[in-house]
Amino acid sequence: MQNYIDQLNDAQKAPVLQKDGPMIVIAGAGSGKTRVLTLRIAYLMHQGVDAFNILALTFTNKAAREMKMRIAQIVGNSEAKNLWMGTFHSVFARILRAEADKLGYPSNFTIYDSQDSQRLVGQIIKEMQLDKDIYKPKEVLNRISSYKNSLVTVKSYFNNPELQEADAMSKKPRLGEIYANYVERCFKSGAMDFDDLLLKTNELLTRFPDVLMKYQDRFRYILVDEYQDTNHSQYLIVRALSDRFQNICVVGDDAQSIYAFRGANINNILNFQKDYEGVQTYRLEQNYRSSRNIVEAANTIIEKNKVKLEKVVWTANDLGPKIKVHRSLTDGEEGRFVASTIFEEKMRDQKKNSDFAILYRTNAQSRAMEDALRKKDIPYRIYGGLSFYQRKEIKDVLSYLRLIINPKDEEALVRVINYPARGIGNTTLDKLTIAANHYKRSIFEIMEHLDKIDLKITTGTKNKLVDFVTMIKAFQVQDEIMDAYQLTEHVTKKSGLVQELRKDTTPEGITRMENIEELLNGIKDFIEGQKEIDGARGSLSEFLEDVALATDLDKDNGNDDRVALMTIHLAKGLEFPTVFCVGMEEDLFPSAMSMNTRSELEEERRLFYVALTRAEHQAYLTYAQSRYRWGKLIDSEPSRFIEEIDDQYLEYLTPPETNYRYKPSINADIFGDVDKSKLRLSKPINGIPPVYLTQKEESKIDRNIRKLKPISTSSIKSAIDNNGHLEMGQVVMHERFGKGTILNLEGAGADKKAEIRFDVGGIKKLLLRFAKLQVL
Ligand code: ATP
Ligand code: MG
Repeated sequence: MQNYIDQLNDAQKAPVLQKDGPMIVIAGAGSGKTRVLTLRIAYLMHQGVDAFNILALTFTNKAAREMKMRIAQIVGNSEAKNLWMGTFHSVFARILRAEADKLGYPSNFTIYDSQDSQRLVGQIIKEMQLDKDIYKPKEVLNRISSYKNSLVTVKSYFNNPELQEADAMSKKPRLGEIYANYVERCFKSGAMDFDDLLLKTNELLTRFPDVLMKYQDRFRYILVDEYQDTNHSQYLIVRALSDRFQNICVVGDDAQSIYAFRGANINNILNFQKDYEGVQTYRLEQNYRSSRNIVEAANTIIEKNKVKLEKVVWTANDLGPKIKVHRSLTDGEEGRFVASTIFEEKMRDQKKNSDFAILYRTNAQSRAMEDALRKKDIPYRIYGGLSFYQRKEIKDVLSYLRLIINPKDEEALVRVINYPARGIGNTTLDKLTIAANHYKRSIFEIMEHLDKIDLKITTGTKNKLVDFVTMIKAFQVQDEIMDAYQLTEHVTKKSGLVQELRKDTTPEGITRMENIEELLNGIKDFIEGQKEIDGARGSLSEFLEDVALATDLDKDNGNDDRVALMTIHLAKGLEFPTVFCVGMEEDLFPSAMSMNTRSELEEERRLFYVALTRAEHQAYLTYAQSRYRWGKLIDSEPSRFIEEIDDQYLEYLTPPETNYRYKPSINADIFGDVDKSKLRLSKPINGIPPVYLTQKEESKIDRNIRKLKPISTSSIKSAIDNNGHLEMGQVVMHERFGKGTILNLEGAGADKKAEIRFDVGGIKKLLLRFAKLQVL
């Protein structure tokens, strides 16, 4: 039984064996922090601590599930079952449901996802007749979110002139009003957004000392993974709950703090020692995850940051291969490189798809990767981005289901009141919304009392509204007797959704139907899974809770053999034998938005540290010289982060030296006639369309590139102008080819070309907009 302790080195054993008191484990990536946390829980249970008294907070629900499984292997399933483990959001949603009445919420409150929140903010901005170009819903919502995470309520906002001034300065003097309206509308709808789950928990624990006592007494041992990324709101919850027994163990790595943009506060880790008395600080130094080359390269990166705790990370693992750096011309080519490398390595080294991860800075980068993987028939899975549950057809079904559980849910109602079309138009909906705002009730409640309120609508419309209410109420009755699967199937038919979708026989329409099938399968699986949990029956409300808090990672059952695609942010805590870190380009990574201050740049660097340290054996860094962004082909330069790694750790698969700023002075035609099928697109520079190059030319350019001088836009313009009045037979001078005679002119404008016989070098065809010719 004790042999699991032997799976730890001495430094790891110490925090596992210290049963009581506050402690912090600060250590670099891959040093076993998560393992320590897991085994510590098992050890506590062996010391007689009841599973019921342990709370573990993780970064994803999947991480919590895996931890629980590992613990169950040690202490047995029936013991492990009672552990409370999960993300902050899922754990405290559960507590809030139990205590909802104290805060005036129904226990079946809806959890709004970010789509819901954003639509509601947009709707409020519209109702307040504000300019949506100034009050951009997404920005406004971010602002509200950061208030909530710093515990700035509407009331404290209006008591704080500084905040109001700051919003007025950023041209949003009415932000406070929007905030107030948003909070009221959520409340009226019996809904909480993600931030509310933390904010309301804080409210609960501060306003009700008896509730605080109850949970302090319950969670006598609290453990937090990835502590460096907790925000203020989460920090306060942990602080309050652990205040009585002070048995708090947090593990983290300041070098992996990557959520400052969402309010994570690195000071939570830096100040931990001050917050509790007699804190034991542990450090782990040995990395077990990665080969030595990766560990050492990662160390050199993080050294560049000024704000950090000094740490040693070393490994006894093999040196391993160098980090491979690859340059390609376009993002499409980058995708092809990644896909064919995976293909080859699978063939050569008998690797599985799931041995590979492709990590990127922004979700938009996944498309080029997907295209390439699909062409090579390599199965993959994208995590993050638009999740399955946010697809339109799925969200429509879910909205019906949400209304059954909580008819006050305004966002769900607005989505489906007239979908499929049942003759309830926008005008009617506007009238309902106005009445709901006026009476401080939900829209559904207004619809239930149409006989008492004069909405000035026709009897026909009124009947349609009554029919809708009746339908939802009938579903509610079915909910009592059916499980989530049966009910969902029933709802999709009775609401007319399935019939509506069947009408659409395009491939997209068929995919939508298949997605609904997939949803039903998912519900079936869910019900099976619930049977293992005490007291659960696979009801609709249990399913909706699961959906609301599911991250894509959670849906991964780990059995699928697929290449993983995700943002670096999402990859935190994970590990893969081979990692491709793609899009290593300035303005993309580091992001153009994060280069204004040193601290922003340092956060980007930490993000890079996280990316690199996910790799166990091999890491690839790839970049493209041009990439489609915002619908345009944009020039890019290699990321400074590549340069920051000492060359001894790198292997360049392509020559690194290329600065395409110099490229316009060269084009394919200079090199004579070429086989167009082998051409590749070069960069568009200074507004000039790209030219085609063969691979040979490209490498020739690479070699020559340093000798060339940059051409300014104005000189190109003047070259085009000057070349406008050339004639056949004229003798001209070319910058590099020397003297020559014009044999022929063809094309017009930017495409105008001249065939010239040079005294040295023979006949060449030149595009005039590039060829700076002087008439002699
Ligand atoms: P991160 O900072 O990325 O979250 P971490 O510090 O949490 O990393 P773990 O994920 O716990 O590190 O461990 C990294 C890898 O090393 C895991 O595969 C783990 O099983 C393994 N490992 C940790 N400690 C040991 C050990 N003492 N012996 C063998 N393997 C270990
Ligand atoms: Mg970890």
